[in-house]
Amino acid sequence: MSILVCGGAGYIGSHMVAHLIEKGQEVVILDSFEKGHKDAILGGKVYKGDLKDRKILDKVFTENKIEAVIDFAAYSLVGESMENPLKYFENNIGSTINLLEAMKDYNVKYIVFSSTAATYGEPENIPILESDKTFPTNPYGESKLSVEKILKWCNKAYGIKYTVLRYFNAAGAHISGKIGEDHRPESHLIPIILQVALRQREKIMIFGEDYDTEDGTCVRDYIHVSDLASAHFLALEKMKNGGDSAIYNLGNGKGFSVKEVVEVTRKVTGKEIKAEIAERREGDPAILIASSDKAKKELGWHPQYNSLETIIETAWNWHKKHLNGYEDKN
Ligand code: UDP
Repeated sequence: MSILVCGGAGYIGSHMVAHLIEKGQEVVILDSFEKGHKDAILGGKVYKGDLKDRKILDKVFTENKIEAVIDFAAYSLVGESMENPLKYFENNIGSTINLLEAMKDYNVKYIVFSSTAATYGEPENIPILESDKTFPTNPYGESKLSVEKILKWCNKAYGIKYTVLRYFNAAGAHISGKIGEDHRPESHLIPIILQVALRQREKIMIFGEDYDTEDGTCVRDYIHVSDLASAHFLALEKMKNGGDSAIYNLGNGKGFSVKEVVEVTRKVTGKEIKAEIAERREGDPAILIASSDKAKKELGWHPQYNSLETIIETAWNWHKKHLNGYEDKN
């Protein structure tokens, strides 16, 4: 029996594939390669195709014995989603509906779904609990929250069990140094700061210094990508052992401001990193920090990389050795 990883060539998906292989699982990957990289896939059987194409789904589900699906395939940029919400709703919701349709038809009963802290919007409490109000401030978060709701009804009607994992800020790279983070264009904080350290960019623009936080810059909870992967595996095991559908936050429970992240990166890299204050980025909440107690308690999840220094060190290790990212130019 195999696990299907949709979006397995992307940043978090490729670390998931690596983790599943380390656990001795058979893995099938479906990726459109619109954003993903061939070189990010460390093993498994690969299919190129879009989740919105029913034909490729039929091929994957008939040629393999799929027992569970882990779905990472989505657009995930807050800023872009503000400018083009329909692109996000059409892709992120449409593709998951198609996937669920196929799961129903091929009798696949388990899905782990990538969700996000952006489902909460401006949080009512810090740290954020899974039971807190969800009120997204951007279409990306809204698209993920919509799928969460769809999953609930599919569970009820078709018996497809789900685990929704609401990631806070995924960061870092695989400890082996073989895979890492490479978005084109890059928009994420840590890889951009590392590009400044590598002299590939002149400076980091800090988006907003007038938030209601200690130093005025946005506070985020950074979680290592391999710790995210391990939580997915535990979530699957729990469902297979009879556990119910559930929603979990995944974070470290500690917040770092943008300025603090810049400072820690200066320390880790030993490089000068020029920073400049810019306008706020639309759709960004001031503070997002997770309570992950539920995942720790119910999944037995123990993040291994719980210091920001270590997380940034793993990212730095990859970026130093892959100055142009993956070579497949995607
Ligand atoms: N950020 C920034 N400059 C950049 C990129 C990001 O100041 O060039 C800030 C952004 O406003 C947010 C934090 O860094 O507060 C993390 O942003 P990122 O895009 O990495 O992740 P997100 O929080 O959108 O998931």
